[in-house]
Amino acid sequence: MTNDRVYASIITIGDELLIGQTIDTNSAWMAQELNKLGIWVKRRVAVGDLWDEIWNALDEESKQSQVILITGGLGPTADDITKPLLNEYFGGKLVIDEAALRNVKDIFEKYIKRQMLDVNLKQAEVPDVCTVIQNKRGTAPGMWFEKDGKVFISMPGVPNEMKGMMSDFVLPRLPQIFSLPAVVHRTLLTAGIGESYIADRIKDFETNLPEHIKLAYLPNFGMVRLRLTATGKNETEITAEVDNLFLNLQSQLQDVMVINEDKTLEEAIGLMLAKHNKTVATAESCTGGYISHLITSVPGSSKYFKGGIVSYHNTVKENILCVDADTLDNHGAVSAETVFEMAVAAKELIKTDFAIAVSGVMGPDGGTDEKPVGTVWVAVAAKSGTITKKFQTRYGRHQNIEVTAIHALNLLRQTIITELENNFSDNNK
Ligand code: ATP
Ligand code: MG
Repeated sequence: MTNDRVYASIITIGDELLIGQTIDTNSAWMAQELNKLGIWVKRRVAVGDLWDEIWNALDEESKQSQVILITGGLGPTADDITKPLLNEYFGGKLVIDEAALRNVKDIFEKYIKRQMLDVNLKQAEVPDVCTVIQNKRGTAPGMWFEKDGKVFISMPGVPNEMKGMMSDFVLPRLPQIFSLPAVVHRTLLTAGIGESYIADRIKDFETNLPEHIKLAYLPNFGMVRLRLTATGKNETEITAEVDNLFLNLQSQLQDVMVINEDKTLEEAIGLMLAKHNKTVATAESCTGGYISHLITSVPGSSKYFKGGIVSYHNTVKENILCVDADTLDNHGAVSAETVFEMAVAAKELIKTDFAIAVSGVMGPDGGTDEKPVGTVWVAVAAKSGTITKKFQTRYGRHQNIEVTAIHALNLLRQTIITELENNFSDNNK
C-alpha cells in the first residue's frame, strides 16, 4: 500500500473488561507483536457489549488506523454481539462455514462429549464477506475483513485462542498486505540499579542515537530491561548498526548487566547453573515458595533445581531446617543468623551446590520499630561460604514478595558469578 507508517488500533470488547473483572492482557500481547512487525499501535480502546459502542469504535478507529484488531464477544451467549454486528457493518449475510462447522463438531465429539445445542452450531456461522480464520483451539472462528484499504480482524477473547490465530494467520499475513519497515530489537537486562541512574550513566549514548534507533527503559522492581529498536528499510544495514550500538551499551553497563538477551533473571540463572553443571535449593519463609515457582517456571529447570522447603512457621525452620532454637529466640526469624542457618541447612539437606534462604516481614501487619514491614534478610550458601544481606522493600504484600524474590535471585546470581565465572573458589583453595 504505502511506505508511510502503518497504524493499528486494538478494540477489546466485553463488560468484564470495563469493570476490571477481566484484565485486558490481550491488548498488551497484541501490541507487542505488532510492534515487532513494525506496525505502530496508535490506540487501544475497550468497549462494553453494547451495539452502538462497538459500532462507534469501529467507525472511530478506522479513521485512525489501517489495521483494526478486535477481540471478544464471539461466544455463543446472548451478550456476544460482535459477529452479527460485524456482519451488518460490512453488509454481509451469515452463512455456515463448513470447516468451522467441522471444527465445532470435532471439539464436541472429542472433548465435550455432549449433545450440541443450536447456539453451538451458530458458532460456525460467519459473514459471507470475510475471510474465515479457523480456530484450532476453540469453537469460535475469527474473521478478517478488508474495506477501503483497511483491515479489520475479529478474534475470540480467550487469550490462547487469540494468540493462536495471530501467530498462525494474522501476523504472517499483515506484512504481505502492508509494506512494513524492518524492525530489529536488542534487549539487555540489568539488576540493582534504578532507571534514572542508568539514564544518567548512558546520557551521551542516548543523545547520540540516530533518529531511527530508539532506546526503551522497561523497569520492573529493581530490574530494568533496556531495549534498542532500529527501524529502517534495509534489514542487514540496521542489524549491523544496532548490533554495534548494543555492544557499546553492554560495555557501559557491564557491571549491572544480568544478560544480553530478552530473558528473565531466573532464565539467566538457569543458563549459568546448567553451563557449570551446578544445582540450587531453596529455603523460603516470607516468599512461601514463590522463588521456587520462578525457578521452575523455566523449562528444563529440573536440571539444576533440586527442590525447596517452605519453612513459613518457626517450627519448620527449627524441626526440618534445624535452625537453632536459640537463634530464633535471640535474633528472631527475620535475621541474618536465621537465614544463614536456613541456607546452610537447605544446601546440606538437599545436597546442592547453592541454596537461597529468605525471611522477611511482608506486611501489612507484623512490623515492629526494629523490623518494620519490608525488612528482608536473604542468604545464599555456596561452596566458598554463606553470605547474608538485608533489604528494605516498601510496597504492598504481594509486591514485597516479588521484590524479595528478585533480590534473592540476584544475590544467587552474583554468588554464582564470583564462585564459578571468576574462579573465586579455585583461587581460594
Ligand atoms: P467465548 O467463546 O469464550 O465466549 P468470546 O470471543 O465471546 O469467547 P469473551 O466472551 O469476550 O470472548 O471472553 C472469553 C474469555 O476470554 C473470558 O474468560 C474473558 O475473561 C477472556 N477475555 C476476553 N477478553 C480478554 C482480554 N482483552 N484480555 C484477556 N482476557 C480476555
Ligand atoms: Mg463470550
